[in-house]
Amino acid sequence: MLFSQQVFLVAGLSRSGVSAAEFLLSRGAKVYAYDDAEEGSAQKAMASLAEKGCRIVHREELSECAKECDILVLSPGIPIDHPLARFFRGLGKRVTGEMELGALALSCPAVAVTGTNGKTTTVTMLERIFRAAGKECFACGNNGLPLTTAAEKLKSSGVAAVEVSSFQLETLSSLRPHVAVVLNIAEDHLDRHYNMENYIYLKRKLLKNCTESEYAVLNRDDPVVRSFAEHTKAHVVWFSSKERVEGAYLEDDHLCFKGEKVLSTDDLSVRGEHNVQNALAAIAAAKLMGVGSEAIEGALSSFKGVSHRLEKVLEKNGVIYIDDSKATNVDSCLKAVAGLDRETVLLVGGKDKGEQFGPLFSALKRSRVVHAVLFGECAFRLMNAAMEENFTAVTLCRPFEVAVRVACLTARPGQNVLLSPAAASFDDFRSFEERGEKFASLVKAYAECAAEAAGDGERGETGKEDKALD
Ligand code: ADP
Repeated sequence: MLFSQQVFLVAGLSRSGVSAAEFLLSRGAKVYAYDDAEEGSAQKAMASLAEKGCRIVHREELSECAKECDILVLSPGIPIDHPLARFFRGLGKRVTGEMELGALALSCPAVAVTGTNGKTTTVTMLERIFRAAGKECFACGNNGLPLTTAAEKLKSSGVAAVEVSSFQLETLSSLRPHVAVVLNIAEDHLDRHYNMENYIYLKRKLLKNCTESEYAVLNRDDPVVRSFAEHTKAHVVWFSSKERVEGAYLEDDHLCFKGEKVLSTDDLSVRGEHNVQNALAAIAAAKLMGVGSEAIEGALSSFKGVSHRLEKVLEKNGVIYIDDSKATNVDSCLKAVAGLDRETVLLVGGKDKGEQFGPLFSALKRSRVVHAVLFGECAFRLMNAAMEENFTAVTLCRPFEVAVRVACLTARPGQNVLLSPAAASFDDFRSFEERGEKFASLVKAYAECAAEAAGDGERGETGKEDKALD
Protein backbone atom coordinates (compact mmCIF):
# COMPACT_ATOMS: atom_id res chain seq x y z
CA MET A 1 0.00 0.00 0.00
CA LEU A 2 1.39 3.42 -0.92
CA PHE A 3 0.55 5.19 2.30
CA SER A 4 1.72 8.62 1.12
CA GLN A 5 -0.90 8.71 -1.61
CA GLN A 6 -3.84 7.97 0.64
CA VAL A 7 -5.94 9.92 3.08
CA PHE A 8 -6.78 8.11 6.33
CA LEU A 9 -9.20 8.64 9.17
CA VAL A 10 -8.03 6.96 12.38
CA ALA A 11 -11.01 6.43 14.70
CA GLY A 12 -10.40 5.62 18.37
CA LEU A 13 -7.27 7.06 19.92
CA SER A 14 -6.20 4.44 22.40
CA ARG A 15 -2.63 3.11 22.23
CA SER A 16 -3.12 1.30 18.92
CA GLY A 17 -4.96 4.25 17.29
CA VAL A 18 -2.16 6.64 18.24
CA SER A 19 0.44 4.19 16.97
CA ALA A 20 -1.47 3.79 13.66
CA ALA A 21 -1.71 7.56 13.17
CA GLU A 22 2.00 8.04 13.91
CA PHE A 23 2.89 5.17 11.61
CA LEU A 24 0.90 6.70 8.75
CA LEU A 25 2.20 10.23 9.35
CA SER A 26 5.79 8.97 9.30
CA ARG A 27 5.09 7.46 5.89
CA GLY A 28 3.82 10.73 4.46
CA ALA A 29 0.09 9.99 4.54
CA LYS A 30 -2.52 12.64 5.20
CA VAL A 31 -4.14 11.61 8.49
CA TYR A 32 -7.31 12.69 10.27
CA ALA A 33 -7.96 11.46 13.80
CA TYR A 34 -11.20 11.15 15.78
CA ASP A 35 -12.27 9.96 19.19
CA ASP A 36 -15.72 10.08 20.84
CA ALA A 37 -14.13 11.29 24.06
CA GLU A 38 -12.46 14.64 23.83
CA GLU A 39 -11.18 14.62 27.41
CA GLY A 40 -8.58 12.75 29.45
CA SER A 41 -6.14 10.49 27.62
CA ALA A 42 -7.93 11.03 24.27
CA GLN A 43 -7.38 14.77 24.56
CA LYS A 44 -3.68 14.25 25.30
CA ALA A 45 -3.39 11.93 22.33
CA MET A 46 -5.09 14.48 20.07
CA ALA A 47 -2.77 17.28 21.18
CA SER A 48 0.32 15.18 20.61
CA LEU A 49 -0.89 13.93 17.19
CA ALA A 50 -1.83 17.47 16.11
CA GLU A 51 1.75 18.55 16.81
CA LYS A 52 2.95 15.82 14.45
CA GLY A 53 0.75 17.05 11.62
CA CYS A 54 -2.43 15.05 12.22
CA ARG A 55 -5.75 16.86 11.69
CA ILE A 56 -8.21 16.37 14.53
CA VAL A 57 -11.84 15.88 13.53
CA HIS A 58 -14.90 16.59 15.69
CA ARG A 59 -18.11 14.59 15.53
CA GLU A 60 -20.01 17.13 13.39
CA GLU A 61 -17.19 17.13 10.79
CA LEU A 62 -17.09 13.36 10.38
CA SER A 63 -19.30 12.97 7.32
CA GLU A 64 -17.46 15.71 5.39
CA CYS A 65 -14.14 14.18 6.41
CA ALA A 66 -15.26 10.69 5.34
CA LYS A 67 -15.82 12.00 1.81
CA GLU A 68 -12.21 13.15 1.58
CA CYS A 69 -10.71 10.03 3.17
CA ASP A 70 -9.81 6.83 1.32
CA ILE A 71 -9.45 4.48 4.28
CA LEU A 72 -10.89 4.26 7.80
CA VAL A 73 -8.57 2.78 10.44
CA LEU A 74 -10.87 1.47 13.13
CA SER A 75 -9.73 0.93 16.73
CA PRO A 76 -10.24 -2.68 17.91
CA GLY A 77 -12.59 -1.23 20.54
CA ILE A 78 -15.03 -0.08 17.82
CA PRO A 79 -17.17 -2.82 16.24
CA ILE A 80 -17.05 -3.40 12.50
CA ASP A 81 -20.80 -2.60 12.29
CA HIS A 82 -20.44 0.80 13.98
CA PRO A 83 -22.27 3.56 12.02
CA LEU A 84 -18.96 5.20 11.05
CA ALA A 85 -17.66 1.95 9.54
CA ARG A 86 -21.01 1.41 7.79
CA PHE A 87 -20.85 4.96 6.43
CA PHE A 88 -17.36 4.38 4.94
CA ARG A 89 -18.38 1.09 3.40
CA GLY A 90 -21.51 2.76 2.05
CA LEU A 91 -19.23 5.21 0.22
CA GLY A 92 -17.33 2.23 -1.23
CA LYS A 93 -14.30 2.93 0.95
CA ARG A 94 -12.04 0.53 2.78
CA VAL A 95 -12.19 -0.14 6.53
CA THR A 96 -9.07 -1.54 8.15
CA GLY A 97 -7.29 -1.75 11.50
CA GLU A 98 -3.97 -0.88 13.12
CA MET A 99 -2.86 -4.52 13.10
CA GLU A 100 -3.44 -4.72 9.35
CA LEU A 101 -1.11 -1.74 8.85
CA GLY A 102 1.46 -3.43 11.09
CA ALA A 103 1.14 -6.69 9.12
CA LEU A 104 1.81 -4.81 5.86
CA ALA A 105 4.93 -3.20 7.36
CA LEU A 106 6.37 -6.26 9.10
CA SER A 107 9.69 -7.37 7.59
CA CYS A 108 10.34 -10.40 9.83
CA PRO A 109 8.48 -13.67 10.39
CA ALA A 110 5.55 -13.71 12.77
CA VAL A 111 4.28 -16.27 15.23
CA ALA A 112 0.65 -15.29 15.79
CA VAL A 113 -1.41 -16.46 18.76
CA THR A 114 -5.18 -16.34 19.15
CA GLY A 115 -7.72 -18.09 21.38
CA THR A 116 -10.18 -17.06 24.06
CA ASN A 117 -7.71 -17.32 26.94
CA GLY A 118 -3.95 -17.53 27.39
CA LYS A 119 -2.84 -15.30 24.50
CA THR A 120 -0.81 -12.77 26.51
CA THR A 121 0.77 -15.50 28.60
CA THR A 122 1.76 -17.48 25.50
CA VAL A 123 3.20 -14.55 23.50
CA THR A 124 5.14 -13.47 26.60
CA MET A 125 6.54 -17.01 26.93
CA LEU A 126 7.49 -16.87 23.24
CA GLU A 127 9.23 -13.51 23.65
CA ARG A 128 11.31 -14.95 26.52
CA ILE A 129 12.13 -18.09 24.54
CA PHE A 130 13.25 -16.25 21.38
CA ARG A 131 15.31 -13.80 23.40
CA ALA A 132 16.93 -16.69 25.29
CA ALA A 133 17.85 -18.11 21.88
CA GLY A 134 19.54 -14.82 20.98
CA LYS A 135 16.83 -13.61 18.59
CA GLU A 136 15.35 -10.15 18.63
CA CYS A 137 11.67 -10.56 19.52
CA PHE A 138 8.75 -8.48 20.75
CA ALA A 139 5.52 -9.81 22.15
CA CYS A 140 3.11 -7.39 20.53
CA GLY A 141 -0.40 -6.82 19.21
CA ASN A 142 -3.28 -7.09 21.63
CA ASN A 143 -0.96 -7.16 24.67
CA GLY A 144 -0.44 -3.38 24.55
CA LEU A 145 2.55 -3.01 22.21
CA PRO A 146 0.87 -2.20 18.86
CA LEU A 147 2.10 -4.21 15.89
CA THR A 148 2.84 -0.97 13.97
CA THR A 149 5.25 0.05 16.77
CA ALA A 150 6.87 -3.40 16.92
CA ALA A 151 7.18 -3.55 13.12
CA GLU A 152 9.23 -0.33 13.18
CA LYS A 153 11.63 -1.80 15.76
CA LEU A 154 12.08 -5.30 14.37
CA LYS A 155 14.75 -6.06 11.77
CA SER A 156 14.21 -8.81 9.21
CA SER A 157 16.28 -11.20 11.35
CA GLY A 158 13.89 -10.78 14.30
CA VAL A 159 10.57 -12.39 15.07
CA ALA A 160 7.23 -10.92 16.11
CA ALA A 161 5.17 -12.85 18.69
CA VAL A 162 1.80 -11.36 17.83
CA GLU A 163 -1.23 -11.63 20.10
CA VAL A 164 -4.36 -11.39 17.97
CA SER A 165 -7.84 -10.85 19.43
CA SER A 166 -11.18 -11.49 17.77
CA PHE A 167 -11.71 -7.71 17.69
CA GLN A 168 -8.50 -7.29 15.68
CA LEU A 169 -9.41 -10.18 13.40
CA GLU A 170 -12.47 -8.23 12.25
CA THR A 171 -10.23 -5.86 10.28
CA LEU A 172 -7.17 -8.05 9.69
CA SER A 173 -6.62 -9.59 6.27
CA SER A 174 -2.90 -9.58 5.33
CA LEU A 175 -1.10 -11.21 8.25
CA ARG A 176 0.50 -14.46 7.12
CA PRO A 177 2.15 -15.96 10.19
CA HIS A 178 4.87 -18.56 9.76
CA VAL A 179 3.32 -20.26 12.78
CA ALA A 180 -0.32 -19.60 13.71
CA VAL A 181 -1.35 -20.82 17.18
CA VAL A 182 -4.96 -21.31 18.29
CA LEU A 183 -5.15 -21.98 22.03
CA ASN A 184 -8.83 -22.57 22.80
CA ILE A 185 -12.35 -21.35 22.07
CA ALA A 186 -14.88 -20.66 24.82
CA GLU A 187 -17.90 -18.39 25.03
CA ASP A 188 -16.82 -14.73 25.15
CA HIS A 189 -17.57 -11.32 23.63
CA LEU A 190 -21.03 -12.32 22.44
CA ASP A 191 -22.16 -8.74 23.12
CA ARG A 192 -19.85 -7.79 20.24
CA HIS A 193 -19.96 -10.80 17.90
CA TYR A 194 -23.64 -11.76 18.52
CA ASN A 195 -23.19 -15.55 18.38
CA MET A 196 -20.58 -18.30 18.65
CA GLU A 197 -20.59 -18.92 14.87
CA ASN A 198 -19.30 -15.39 14.21
CA TYR A 199 -16.78 -15.64 17.03
CA ILE A 200 -15.43 -19.00 15.79
CA TYR A 201 -15.34 -17.70 12.20
CA LEU A 202 -13.17 -14.78 13.33
CA LYS A 203 -10.77 -16.98 15.29
CA ARG A 204 -10.38 -19.29 12.28
CA LYS A 205 -9.49 -16.26 10.15
CA LEU A 206 -5.99 -16.32 11.66
CA LEU A 207 -5.26 -19.39 9.51
CA LYS A 208 -6.76 -17.95 6.33
CA ASN A 209 -3.51 -16.88 4.64
CA CYS A 210 -1.40 -19.85 5.72
CA THR A 211 -0.19 -22.17 2.96
CA GLU A 212 1.55 -25.57 3.00
CA SER A 213 4.82 -23.89 3.98
CA GLU A 214 3.34 -22.48 7.19
CA TYR A 215 2.33 -24.21 10.41
CA ALA A 216 -0.90 -24.23 12.40
CA VAL A 217 -0.32 -25.17 16.04
CA LEU A 218 -3.72 -26.34 17.30
CA ASN A 219 -5.10 -27.52 20.63
CA ARG A 220 -6.06 -31.16 20.14
CA ASP A 221 -8.01 -31.14 23.45
CA ASP A 222 -10.42 -28.43 22.32
CA PRO A 223 -13.10 -29.80 19.96
CA VAL A 224 -13.65 -26.49 18.16
CA VAL A 225 -9.95 -25.79 17.67
CA ARG A 226 -9.43 -29.40 16.60
CA SER A 227 -11.96 -28.89 13.80
CA PHE A 228 -9.86 -26.00 12.43
CA ALA A 229 -7.46 -28.60 11.01
CA GLU A 230 -10.04 -29.31 8.31
CA HIS A 231 -10.09 -25.68 7.22
CA THR A 232 -6.41 -24.87 6.71
CA LYS A 233 -3.77 -25.54 4.10
CA ALA A 234 -1.07 -25.11 6.77
CA HIS A 235 0.86 -28.06 8.12
CA VAL A 236 -0.97 -28.95 11.35
CA VAL A 237 1.07 -29.56 14.51
CA TRP A 238 -0.92 -30.43 17.63
CA PHE A 239 -0.48 -29.73 21.30
CA SER A 240 -2.28 -31.62 24.05
CA SER A 241 -2.10 -32.00 27.82
CA LYS A 242 -4.16 -35.20 27.65
CA GLU A 243 -2.69 -37.45 24.96
CA ARG A 244 0.51 -38.08 23.02
CA VAL A 245 0.11 -36.23 19.74
CA GLU A 246 2.21 -35.40 16.69
CA GLY A 247 3.59 -32.22 18.26
CA ALA A 248 3.82 -31.07 21.90
CA TYR A 249 2.41 -33.16 24.77
CA LEU A 250 2.84 -34.27 28.38
CA GLU A 251 4.58 -37.56 29.16
CA ASP A 252 6.38 -38.88 32.26
CA ASP A 253 6.01 -35.48 33.99
CA HIS A 254 7.71 -33.74 31.10
CA LEU A 255 6.61 -31.32 28.40
CA CYS A 256 7.75 -33.03 25.23
CA PHE A 257 7.98 -32.22 21.55
CA LYS A 258 8.03 -35.02 18.96
CA GLY A 259 9.69 -37.60 21.21
CA GLU A 260 12.07 -35.20 22.99
CA LYS A 261 11.70 -34.20 26.65
CA VAL A 262 12.01 -30.40 26.69
CA LEU A 263 11.11 -29.41 30.25
CA SER A 264 10.04 -31.14 33.44
CA THR A 265 6.61 -30.06 34.74
CA ASP A 266 8.27 -29.22 38.10
CA ASP A 267 10.51 -26.73 36.32
CA LEU A 268 7.58 -24.85 34.80
CA SER A 269 7.22 -21.87 37.15
CA VAL A 270 3.62 -20.97 36.25
CA ARG A 271 0.98 -23.27 37.72
CA GLY A 272 -2.22 -24.89 36.50
CA GLU A 273 -3.15 -27.14 33.58
CA HIS A 274 -4.01 -24.11 31.48
CA ASN A 275 -0.44 -22.87 31.81
CA VAL A 276 0.87 -26.31 30.83
CA GLN A 277 -1.23 -25.92 27.67
CA ASN A 278 0.14 -22.43 27.03
CA ALA A 279 3.68 -23.72 27.52
CA LEU A 280 3.07 -26.69 25.18
CA ALA A 281 1.78 -24.30 22.50
CA ALA A 282 4.80 -22.04 22.97
CA ILE A 283 7.18 -25.03 22.82
CA ALA A 284 5.62 -26.28 19.57
CA ALA A 285 5.78 -22.82 17.97
CA ALA A 286 9.37 -22.20 19.12
CA LYS A 287 10.54 -25.62 17.92
CA LEU A 288 8.95 -25.04 14.51
CA MET A 289 10.88 -21.75 14.36
CA GLY A 290 14.12 -23.67 14.96
CA VAL A 291 14.76 -22.83 18.63
CA GLY A 292 16.77 -25.38 20.65
CA SER A 293 15.46 -27.06 23.81
CA GLU A 294 18.04 -25.43 26.08
CA ALA A 295 16.77 -21.91 25.35
CA ILE A 296 13.16 -23.06 25.78
CA GLU A 297 13.91 -24.76 29.09
CA GLY A 298 15.80 -21.74 30.45
CA ALA A 299 13.09 -19.28 29.44
CA LEU A 300 10.10 -21.29 30.69
CA SER A 301 11.67 -22.27 34.00
CA SER A 302 12.35 -18.64 34.88
CA PHE A 303 9.02 -17.25 33.56
CA LYS A 304 6.94 -16.19 36.56
CA GLY A 305 3.73 -15.27 34.71
CA VAL A 306 2.18 -11.96 33.75
CA SER A 307 0.64 -9.50 36.26
CA HIS A 308 -3.07 -9.82 37.09
CA ARG A 309 -3.09 -13.50 36.04
CA LEU A 310 -3.31 -15.58 39.22
CA GLU A 311 -0.87 -13.18 40.86
CA LYS A 312 -0.36 -13.60 44.60
CA VAL A 313 -0.56 -10.10 46.03
CA LEU A 314 -0.45 -10.75 49.76
CA GLU A 315 -0.38 -13.44 52.42
CA LYS A 316 -1.48 -12.27 55.84
CA ASN A 317 -2.86 -14.05 58.88
CA GLY A 318 -3.02 -17.29 56.96
CA VAL A 319 -5.09 -15.84 54.10
CA ILE A 320 -3.66 -15.65 50.57
CA TYR A 321 -5.01 -12.87 48.33
CA ILE A 322 -4.83 -13.59 44.59
CA ASP A 323 -5.39 -11.17 41.72
CA ASP A 324 -6.72 -12.85 38.56
CA SER A 325 -8.39 -9.68 37.27
CA LYS A 326 -7.61 -10.69 33.67
CA ALA A 327 -10.01 -13.64 33.98
CA THR A 328 -12.74 -11.80 32.07
CA ASN A 329 -14.90 -14.77 31.05
CA VAL A 330 -16.33 -17.89 32.69
CA ASP A 331 -13.80 -20.25 31.12
CA SER A 332 -10.75 -18.42 32.49
CA CYS A 333 -12.34 -18.13 35.95
CA LEU A 334 -13.02 -21.87 35.94
CA LYS A 335 -9.39 -22.58 35.03
CA ALA A 336 -8.32 -20.54 38.08
CA VAL A 337 -10.84 -22.40 40.27
CA ALA A 338 -9.72 -25.80 38.93
CA GLY A 339 -6.17 -25.13 40.12
CA LEU A 340 -7.13 -24.20 43.70
CA ASP A 341 -5.38 -26.15 46.42
CA ARG A 342 -7.17 -24.40 49.35
CA GLU A 343 -10.70 -23.38 50.21
CA THR A 344 -11.43 -20.05 48.58
CA VAL A 345 -13.69 -17.02 48.76
CA LEU A 346 -14.25 -15.97 45.15
CA LEU A 347 -14.97 -12.44 43.90
CA VAL A 348 -16.92 -12.51 40.61
CA GLY A 349 -18.62 -9.76 38.62
CA GLY A 350 -18.11 -6.76 36.39
CA LYS A 351 -19.34 -5.60 33.02
CA ASP A 352 -22.09 -7.74 31.55
CA LYS A 353 -21.10 -9.30 28.22
CA GLY A 354 -24.23 -11.45 28.06
CA GLU A 355 -22.38 -14.66 28.93
CA GLN A 356 -24.30 -17.57 30.51
CA PHE A 357 -23.35 -17.91 34.20
CA GLY A 358 -25.17 -21.21 34.88
CA PRO A 359 -22.08 -23.31 33.97
CA LEU A 360 -19.99 -21.22 36.37
CA PHE A 361 -22.11 -21.99 39.44
CA SER A 362 -22.71 -25.55 38.40
CA ALA A 363 -18.91 -26.06 38.38
CA LEU A 364 -18.40 -24.07 41.60
CA LYS A 365 -20.56 -26.59 43.47
CA ARG A 366 -17.86 -29.20 42.83
CA SER A 367 -14.92 -26.89 43.56
CA ARG A 368 -12.96 -25.55 46.54
CA VAL A 369 -14.89 -22.28 46.42
CA VAL A 370 -16.71 -21.97 49.76
CA HIS A 371 -18.30 -18.58 49.13
CA ALA A 372 -18.84 -16.27 46.15
CA VAL A 373 -19.13 -12.50 46.50
CA LEU A 374 -20.91 -10.96 43.50
CA PHE A 375 -20.24 -7.39 42.39
CA GLY A 376 -20.60 -4.96 39.49
CA GLU A 377 -23.06 -4.56 36.62
CA CYS A 378 -23.79 -8.28 36.24
CA ALA A 379 -24.19 -8.98 40.00
CA PHE A 380 -27.95 -9.60 39.75
CA ARG A 381 -27.63 -11.91 36.74
CA LEU A 382 -24.92 -13.78 38.63
CA MET A 383 -27.25 -14.04 41.64
CA ASN A 384 -30.05 -15.48 39.49
CA ALA A 385 -27.70 -18.04 37.96
CA ALA A 386 -26.40 -19.01 41.43
CA MET A 387 -29.95 -19.52 42.71
CA GLU A 388 -30.95 -21.54 39.65
CA GLU A 389 -27.94 -23.80 40.18
CA ASN A 390 -28.68 -23.99 43.92
CA PHE A 391 -25.29 -22.49 44.83
CA THR A 392 -26.35 -20.69 47.97
CA ALA A 393 -23.08 -19.55 49.56
CA VAL A 394 -23.26 -16.13 47.93
CA THR A 395 -23.33 -12.48 48.96
CA LEU A 396 -24.36 -9.73 46.58
CA CYS A 397 -22.54 -6.39 47.01
CA ARG A 398 -22.67 -4.31 43.89
CA PRO A 399 -19.87 -1.79 44.69
CA PHE A 400 -16.42 -3.31 44.20
CA GLU A 401 -14.93 -1.79 47.37
CA VAL A 402 -17.67 -3.28 49.55
CA ALA A 403 -17.45 -6.65 47.81
CA VAL A 404 -13.69 -6.88 48.40
CA ARG A 405 -14.15 -5.99 52.06
CA VAL A 406 -16.88 -8.61 52.48
CA ALA A 407 -14.66 -11.23 50.83
CA CYS A 408 -11.82 -10.32 53.19
CA LEU A 409 -14.12 -10.55 56.23
CA THR A 410 -15.50 -13.90 55.05
CA ALA A 411 -12.14 -15.64 54.49
CA ARG A 412 -10.75 -17.71 57.37
CA PRO A 413 -7.07 -18.54 58.00
CA GLY A 414 -6.06 -21.28 55.58
CA GLN A 415 -8.29 -19.93 52.81
CA ASN A 416 -7.73 -17.73 49.73
CA VAL A 417 -9.46 -14.58 48.59
CA LEU A 418 -9.46 -14.84 44.79
CA LEU A 419 -10.49 -12.07 42.40
CA SER A 420 -11.27 -14.01 39.20
CA PRO A 421 -14.23 -12.00 37.93
CA ALA A 422 -15.47 -13.92 34.85
CA ALA A 423 -16.53 -10.53 33.43
CA ALA A 424 -14.92 -7.44 31.92
CA SER A 425 -13.87 -4.45 34.02
CA PHE A 426 -15.40 -1.58 32.03
CA ASP A 427 -18.45 -1.07 34.25
CA ASP A 428 -16.35 0.59 36.97
CA PHE A 429 -12.77 0.65 35.73
CA ARG A 430 -10.78 1.73 32.70
CA SER A 431 -9.09 -1.65 32.43
CA PHE A 432 -8.57 -5.01 34.10
CA GLU A 433 -5.20 -3.67 35.28
CA GLU A 434 -6.89 -0.83 37.16
CA ARG A 435 -9.35 -3.32 38.75
CA GLY A 436 -6.46 -5.59 39.81
CA GLU A 437 -4.54 -2.67 41.29
CA LYS A 438 -7.61 -1.53 43.21
CA PHE A 439 -8.04 -5.06 44.58
CA ALA A 440 -4.42 -5.15 45.71
CA SER A 441 -4.64 -1.78 47.44
CA LEU A 442 -7.95 -2.69 49.15
CA VAL A 443 -6.73 -6.02 50.49
CA LYS A 444 -3.47 -4.49 51.70
CA ALA A 445 -5.39 -1.75 53.53
CA TYR A 446 -7.78 -4.35 54.98
CA ALA A 447 -4.96 -6.61 56.14
CA GLU A 448 -3.20 -3.69 57.82
CA CYS A 449 -6.38 -2.63 59.65
CA ALA A 450 -7.06 -6.21 60.71
CA ALA A 451 -3.51 -6.56 62.00
CA GLU A 452 -3.80 -3.30 63.93
CA ALA A 453 -7.13 -4.33 65.42
CA ALA A 454 -5.55 -7.61 66.50
CA GLY A 455 -2.77 -5.63 68.17
CA ASP A 456 0.12 -6.78 65.98
CA GLY A 457 0.46 -3.56 64.02
CA GLU A 458 3.97 -2.76 65.21
CA ARG A 459 6.43 -2.04 62.44
CA GLY A 460 8.69 -5.02 63.09
CA GLU A 461 5.84 -7.50 62.82
CA THR A 462 4.46 -6.04 59.56
CA GLY A 463 7.93 -5.80 58.05
CA LYS A 464 8.56 -9.46 58.79
CA GLU A 465 5.34 -10.52 57.07
CA ASP A 466 6.00 -8.32 54.05
CA LYS A 467 9.43 -9.89 53.59
CA ALA A 468 7.92 -13.35 53.71
CA LEU A 469 5.97 -12.44 50.55
CA ASP A 470 9.01 -11.99 48.33
P1 ADP B 1 -5.67 -13.48 27.10
O1 ADP B 1 -4.54 -12.61 26.65
O2 ADP B 1 -6.12 -14.44 26.05
O3 ADP B 1 -6.78 -12.75 27.75
P2 ADP B 1 -4.06 -14.18 29.43
O4 ADP B 1 -2.80 -14.92 29.24
O5 ADP B 1 -4.01 -12.73 29.67
O6 ADP B 1 -5.04 -14.47 28.20
O7 ADP B 1 -4.88 -14.87 30.62
C1 ADP B 1 -6.19 -14.38 30.90
C2 ADP B 1 -6.87 -15.22 31.94
O8 ADP B 1 -7.13 -16.52 31.45
C3 ADP B 1 -6.04 -15.39 33.19
O9 ADP B 1 -6.90 -15.16 34.23
C4 ADP B 1 -5.55 -16.81 33.18
O10 ADP B 1 -5.54 -17.36 34.46
C5 ADP B 1 -6.54 -17.54 32.26
N1 ADP B 1 -5.85 -18.40 31.29
C6 ADP B 1 -4.58 -18.30 30.85
N2 ADP B 1 -4.31 -19.27 29.95
C7 ADP B 1 -5.43 -19.99 29.79
C8 ADP B 1 -5.78 -21.12 28.99
N3 ADP B 1 -4.91 -21.71 28.17
N4 ADP B 1 -7.06 -21.59 29.09
C9 ADP B 1 -7.96 -20.99 29.91
N5 ADP B 1 -7.68 -19.94 30.72
C10 ADP B 1 -6.43 -19.43 30.66
